[in-house]
Amino acid sequence: MINILDLTKEELKQWMVENGESKFRGEQVIGWIYKKVFNFDDMKNIPSSLKEKLKNNFSFSIPEIVEKYVSKDERTIKYLLKLRDNYIIEAVLMKYDYGNTVCLSTQVGCRMGCKFCASTIGGRLRNLSNGEILSEILVMEKDCNERVSNIVLMGTGEPFDNYDNVMKFIKEVNAEYGLNIGQRHITVSTCGIVPKIIDFANEKTQVTLAISLHSTTDENRKKIMPIANKYSIEELLEACRYYIKVTNRRITFEYSLVKGVNDSIEQAKELSLLLKGMLCHVNLIPVNEVKESGFVRATEKDIEGFRKVLENNGIEATVRKEMGGDINAACGQLRRDYVEKMRDKDVWVR
Ligand code: SAH
Repeated sequence: MINILDLTKEELKQWMVENGESKFRGEQVIGWIYKKVFNFDDMKNIPSSLKEKLKNNFSFSIPEIVEKYVSKDERTIKYLLKLRDNYIIEAVLMKYDYGNTVCLSTQVGCRMGCKFCASTIGGRLRNLSNGEILSEILVMEKDCNERVSNIVLMGTGEPFDNYDNVMKFIKEVNAEYGLNIGQRHITVSTCGIVPKIIDFANEKTQVTLAISLHSTTDENRKKIMPIANKYSIEELLEACRYYIKVTNRRITFEYSLVKGVNDSIEQAKELSLLLKGMLCHVNLIPVNEVKESGFVRATEKDIEGFRKVLENNGIEATVRKEMGGDINAACGQLRRDYVEKMRDKDVWVR
């Protein structure tokens, strides 16, 4: 059955017409969905004959909250959500003074294989549909009775490895009838799939692009990010320059600092040279230690030293503020731990 959340308003109106109903019914049903009414029976102004038709054709694949972790300051809430086929995904809501930001997953697992990342350890199990990505937000908004104003696609998964669904999601979430979240309030992060960066540039959206760089040489990058075997840093930066040229938007480079791997003053100088003159910003992320990887976080002193070098070379850089330190499990770690815990209880989730 089709997940009704995968349809845009236009598609739903079209379906109504094809099924002998008036277009207007499509508007009504979409209206209920965004009021977070997730079953046809409760849609008061829909005639029962149409409700039956809808039930026979569509499902509501709304994820179920299976675990929820709230930080002590109550500003960060991490959710483990169960999809209709028992796959588990993570999503996070962060409350800032300027509004609420959500960090969403785009795939169940990931096949990019970055060595420091927990999300990729079991590989990619499947893509999320546009409606499933959207429903992460709807579920969190409903659960904590808050409105979301910013979205980062930085949860589990590689957004550009699920390009079409992610683009459909971005258009939907941006629609006035939907959550109406401006493109400038959305960030997509990629490990650097070069042809997709070009495609994305050509879409000419106002969405912020974040690139996981994490290294200054191909040799070093290959050791921690398999995608570097496919595209060189030069090719990646060339695609980034194209993106900037076409969109006139500033790129964010993510650089997770791992002790003894990419955190030296020398590497900070190399990074400055690589990015010199580019319309960009560097986001330094103290690596979250993942038990399977053995990577250790750079020291505060080295992180600050690294940042200073960038600053002195005219490269704007900030150290990512850590939210909810007490529940700050590394990306993908919560899901892994939960799946393991349930396996011990003989409950099948993945
Ligand atoms: N697949 C996308 C989104 C991944 S998550 C991408 O690669 O960009 C968002 C960011 O967190 C990426 O920059 C990713 O490299 C980084 N990341 C993943 N695991 C991390 C960890 N354990 N510590 C710090 N950063 C991590």
